[in-house]
Amino acid sequence: MTQLVALRRSRAAGNADRQRSEAEGVAGALVGRGAPGRTVYIETYGCQMNIGDTELMAGVLADAGYARVDDPGRADVILVNTCAIREHAENRVLGRLGQLQRYRDRHADLLIGVTGCMAQRLGEALLQGAYGVDLVAGPDAYRSIGWMVDGMRRGAVEKGQALLALDADEDYGGLRAIRGEGVSAWVTVQRGCDHRCTFCIVPYVRGPEKNRAFSEVVGEVEEAVAAGYSEVTLLGQTVNSYRSGDGDFADLLHAVARVPGLRRVRFTSPHPNDVTERLLETMASEPAVCPQLHLPVQSGSDRILKRMVRRYTRRDFLEKVDLARRIVPDIALSTDIIVGFSGEMEADFEATLSLLAAVRFDDAYLYKYSRRGGTPATRLPAADDVPAAVAQTRLERTIELQRGIQLSVNRAEVGAVREVLTERIARSAGDLLGRTARNKVVAFRGPADWIGTYRRVRLTATSGATFTGAVA
Ligand code: SF4
Repeated sequence: MTQLVALRRSRAAGNADRQRSEAEGVAGALVGRGAPGRTVYIETYGCQMNIGDTELMAGVLADAGYARVDDPGRADVILVNTCAIREHAENRVLGRLGQLQRYRDRHADLLIGVTGCMAQRLGEALLQGAYGVDLVAGPDAYRSIGWMVDGMRRGAVEKGQALLALDADEDYGGLRAIRGEGVSAWVTVQRGCDHRCTFCIVPYVRGPEKNRAFSEVVGEVEEAVAAGYSEVTLLGQTVNSYRSGDGDFADLLHAVARVPGLRRVRFTSPHPNDVTERLLETMASEPAVCPQLHLPVQSGSDRILKRMVRRYTRRDFLEKVDLARRIVPDIALSTDIIVGFSGEMEADFEATLSLLAAVRFDDAYLYKYSRRGGTPATRLPAADDVPAAVAQTRLERTIELQRGIQLSVNRAEVGAVREVLTERIARSAGDLLGRTARNKVVAFRGPADWIGTYRRVRLTATSGATFTGAVA
């Protein structure tokens, strides 16, 4: 049965790549002879997209006979699903690969693979002995990962393979994700990116934008609801640039919001340029769409936005913020900021601070720029680099400003009663953690069997980052 599934799926994808289909067919037969009890441990780094990809790989590997376990010590296969956005993230993974080698002592046939954006960026270099890696697979190779892993473990495929071809047709249609724990389901609607922001590695490791069929996305949301999820988050690199034969992102969001039984839908990460009136009107009119929008601005300076090739100006961005607040009055806004980008002068940095002060975001992800090999920004003159100490000071000043803003924004919400989806047990004994529709994290007392349910909670205090509350 597993063999048939593997073959059918390889054919569905195989029109674009007959060679791969044939290889999958051979390995599908290998999978079919599999012994029971094979296990895989997948460790995930980076963004929500990677969480979605891990669930996709878990599905592919389950079809190949590999059950997911949460302990690397019990695994026949360990996969590290990686991020390449920052050097720090890659260094963490390299360190982790070193630690994982110790499991080979107990399991002579253990196979260790690296997947995701860092796998695509570093490619075959990861197969060099020092890292102890048997398999490298980029973001367009996950359909092949089941037969590849199984073939290697049986000796039918040589270890040391790198699956790095970017495939403009690969949208993973027809595959089934196996979701991890949690009360909210991630549903990928789009992969890759057509922008070329100069600081970003994503277009080079994930390829051009590929949108899933409208009916597949809606079907997956229906399946998630049938499996008990009442909240979904639609994922894409620039999710709101989604377009298929059946409509654009506003149409998709409208259709998803109408899936019976779904109480909440969120989406991330949108590009400011593709936030349209229609999208905002859909957010305002569909009760299931959460009034929450992540709007990455990156810089408040037109000069730096141009060097980043963000394709909007400060004024365009502020107009988008006004439009969002006019159409969805209770909208919670968050953003991303990079300080210390190539050529950033003090005046540019001050423009970023003034934009933060003007918008008063509910939340912000603040980063210090670090050069990524393979991105266009590495070709900007080295003389324009911002000294590390200056960039660090700017980051600290930005954090301080945003903390103050967030504290005052969140204090204004203290006393309100909000519907909270209970997500998990908090670290502090007896507390649960949940999220409001506006994406505010709340800790409150309650029994563990409330996880997955909605509670009306009065927000009683805030630290600035999160709230404490009591069931109303
Ligand atoms: S829009 Fe820009 S920052 Fe976002 S993924 Fe694409 S290239 Fe990267």
